[in-house]
Amino acid sequence: MNPDLLLKIYLCVWLFVAGAVLGSFLDCAVWRWAHGEAMFRGRSHCGSCGKILSPRELVPVFSFLFSRGKCRHCGEKIPAECLWAELAGGVGFVCFGVKFGLSLELAQWLILGALLLAVSLADGAKRIIPDRLLLAMAANRAVWLLVLRQPLADTVKGMLASCVVPAALLCFVLLAEKVMKKEAMGGGDIKLLLALALYLSWPELLLTLLGGCLLGIAGGLLGKRQGAIPFGPYLAAAAVGAACFGGPLIDWYLGFF
Ligand SMILES: [Zn+2]
Repeated sequence: MNPDLLLKIYLCVWLFVAGAVLGSFLDCAVWRWAHGEAMFRGRSHCGSCGKILSPRELVPVFSFLFSRGKCRHCGEKIPAECLWAELAGGVGFVCFGVKFGLSLELAQWLILGALLLAVSLADGAKRIIPDRLLLAMAANRAVWLLVLRQPLADTVKGMLASCVVPAALLCFVLLAEKVMKKEAMGGGDIKLLLALALYLSWPELLLTLLGGCLLGIAGGLLGKRQGAIPFGPYLAAAAVGAACFGGPLIDWYLGFF
């Protein structure tokens, strides 16, 4: 087998493990935040009976599957978000590994992936996209802009072009809200797009918006959630897809003009 391909597969296996562990950790931290507990203090426990979880109950993905999604002590259902967060972390990290390979740039995208996962979990739990996470996304981009020594003028020009997408969306949403006289889209979602504009080109950001809407509609139709669905997780998933695999799709579309 081609040694480069073998190395990439090896990298992706470890990235899946790292992403799944991170997903498990972030899910626990966000659950504690949503329930008013200290985020990073105390050992992992069942949210229902409070029993401390043993190491074998903390193996990402496998523990959930082997226990059939139920607590071993009280039999109460473990929220499906636990499994989703672990799978999303693992798959997201693998996507970045496939796209960027073993490179310095990969670190920038893995940190963005972790922040997007935290944003998704917070939006899912409390319908809030914390500004702190969006600021961390901006800070991460600024640091890696310097570390990767990317051409400053061109990069800033690209970012400003991408910012047109959330700005246009904001105008559209304000107009729609005036006409419909009710909230059309959360302000947090537009701020998330603005933070993503620092990472993605404007066609990738448009693809993110379109993909997020399609995923959101599919999620709304398939899910049983009552009331308005959080848009952050769908935007985050679409952003990872656009960053890693959007290029060929965008080239194909632009080929028509
Ligand atoms: Zn329990």
